Amino acid sequence: DNEDLRILLLENISLDAVKSFQANGWQVDHHTKSMNEDDLVQKIGQYHAIGIRSKTRITERVIKAASKLLVIGCFCIGVNQVDLVTAGKAGIPVFNSPFSNSRSVAELVISEIIALARQYFERSFEMRQGVWNKKSKGCWEIRGKTLGIVGYGHIGSQLSVLAEAFGMRVVFYDIINIMPLGSARQVESLSVLLSQSDFVTLHVPELPETRNMISGMQLAQMKQGAYLINNARGGVVDIPALISAVRSGHIAGAALDVFPHEPGANGAPFDDELNRWSSELRALKNVILTPHIGGSTEEAQRMIGDEVSGSLARYLDFGSTVGAVNFPEVDLRAITAEQPDHVRVCHVHVNQPGVLKQVNEVLSPYNVEKQYSDSKGDVAYLMADIADVSPQDVNRLRELISKTSANILT
Ligand code: NAD
Repeated sequence: DNEDLRILLLENISLDAVKSFQANGWQVDHHTKSMNEDDLVQKIGQYHAIGIRSKTRITERVIKAASKLLVIGCFCIGVNQVDLVTAGKAGIPVFNSPFSNSRSVAELVISEIIALARQYFERSFEMRQGVWNKKSKGCWEIRGKTLGIVGYGHIGSQLSVLAEAFGMRVVFYDIINIMPLGSARQVESLSVLLSQSDFVTLHVPELPETRNMISGMQLAQMKQGAYLINNARGGVVDIPALISAVRSGHIAGAALDVFPHEPGANGAPFDDELNRWSSELRALKNVILTPHIGGSTEEAQRMIGDEVSGSLARYLDFGSTVGAVNFPEVDLRAITAEQPDHVRVCHVHVNQPGVLKQVNEVLSPYNVEKQYSDSKGDVAYLMADIADVSPQDVNRLRELISKTSANILT
């Protein structure tokens, strides 16, 4: 019964999501801030679901204290703030929102390409200081220029379409072969992309292989007077190397939205111990600095709210794990209200031989209409729709299934 379900929402998750949970009959506790580990350990035991963004860390300790927790929703793209393996082993799927802000990032990149090419952010800065500096030297149209996209995923491919609409030539580099959109062309190596592009924009995930992917050597391979844009993750660019390349004039300008160490809250200083180079970076007039706002639009926030709250509801109402990042993805066509004698059995267990046999023995007296199971690592998940089940049978089934081996993973 949904009235017994309590959800904790942290980090100011959209009020539209709150409304949709409440409409579903859930009790919602909405907080604007994140919670530290100790507070979470103390509070999490009361909740069946939690919604967070990027600042709340769901550690092994938190998961161990989460005795009722059924599901975790990350109202953002990244999921590295959650211990995904421990959550999976505890039978808790984690959902995120993989592409709800892709368009917002792609539009920001287009604006940065034009801003860098026309230097209007520098002119605006000068005007604020009372200086009139009308010039055309070193200012360009973007029509006919080459954009090099590193990582042709959700954002990179969306950007490709927008850039071509502005008359740019698009090349991209990705570790997998991807069908180019429009007239874009995939190139065989990062070096080829760097040597051809007037603008290089990064859209790869943060991985050990992408750490400092753009360092001194790669910057040297870029064309004289080219521009670099990073809206991916801070660790992808070696910032001291970029500072040298901009100072030498080899790189004509850059736009950075992400940094290796980002302040945890608005108003916090960007110039801290960890960002030793930040005053040098701030002194470069031809570098646009933004505080990780690539995906920060009203539209993206609303889409994230809809997408993740929908995933949580589909899991808690129907057991569907489609889109879960740490869990086998399992779903069957939804049972309808016209089938009151139908029951859906959802069984999370350790991925080991013999469990399915035991569950199917319990189900064998019934008419199993549909059944599907899948596994991911140590976690396996079975879903079965069975017909002609009386309310007494439901309780009996619940009891028997809970006795089948290995349904508790931690
Ligand atoms: P995605 O997973 O859809 O695409 C990433 C692409 O990079 C994939 O095609 C993948 O094959 C490719 N790739 C992986 N490793 C590579 C490598 N070593 N070399 C070349 N290509 C490689 O991701 P996405 O949704 O397009 O997001 C891209 C990045 O943007 C992520 O790091 C994400 O965190 C970041 N992002 C930032 C903001 C922001 O606010 N600035 C917002 C959203 C996403």
